[in-house]
Amino acid sequence: MLSISVIAAFPELVEYALDFGVTGRARQQGLWRWQGFALHDFATDARKSIDARPAAGGPGMVLMPAPLDAALASARAWHGEKSLVVFMSPDGAPLEQSRVREFAQHQHITFVAGRYEGIDQRWIDANVDAIVSVGDYVLSGGELAAAVVIDSCVRLMPGALGDAESATFESFADGKLDWPQYALAPTESRQMPAELANGDHATVNRWRVKQALIRTWMRRPDLLARAKLSLEERAMLDEFTETGI
Ligand code: SAM
Repeated sequence: MLSISVIAAFPELVEYALDFGVTGRARQQGLWRWQGFALHDFATDARKSIDARPAAGGPGMVLMPAPLDAALASARAWHGEKSLVVFMSPDGAPLEQSRVREFAQHQHITFVAGRYEGIDQRWIDANVDAIVSVGDYVLSGGELAAAVVIDSCVRLMPGALGDAESATFESFADGKLDWPQYALAPTESRQMPAELANGDHATVNRWRVKQALIRTWMRRPDLLARAKLSLEERAMLDEFTETGI
């Protein structure tokens, strides 16, 4: 079972985000468990302060080390062993599927969500194993960012997805984007590509590979530059770039 703890000002945001669909079902099935550690519960003064003014000046507040220490100690006790400590921050390495696969190998992970201007650097230096960003933009807190990483890890757990093949045939699984999807809706009269209507297995397979290549070429050429294409895939892409079909 995957055990996940979340240290945050508002950990309930993470629980709510993950209570539905694949992640909610996986938790009911006992594939993963989680525990939130609300920083205000670990404040050491009567006013329940968790933040202080930045030593370097400037606007806002910074999360103090002491409540984070106490929350991490409680999280460790809950895990029963050392967990991987992941701090969510816009200055971390942008999340990619390869990183998600690495995280999904761990049994115990503690996510730390910042608020305000972020977290005291001394605490980060002493406790954090990985810093992860969900993209080049700034959220008001790390809770939703942590939920993004947890969701992406949980759905990779064996048994989490209704069809295990879903995680094999999807964007980034092999360095390409997914092919366009069409619903086999019985009452739908809008036309779909002829290759799909035809239903021949080999034709559909070729269509899937070629469409995934075309979509990646058009939308994410950076991925394609890194992908190892087979000769057949290279020929399909050349056919498209030369003829537009
Ligand atoms: N002062 C920080 C900066 O300029 O980089 C921004 C702090 S942000 C307002 C508060 C918290 O939200 C951060 O400590 C982090 O936990 C979370 N956060 C914001 N954007 C994020 C992102 N793109 N990825 C991951 N976490 C993010």
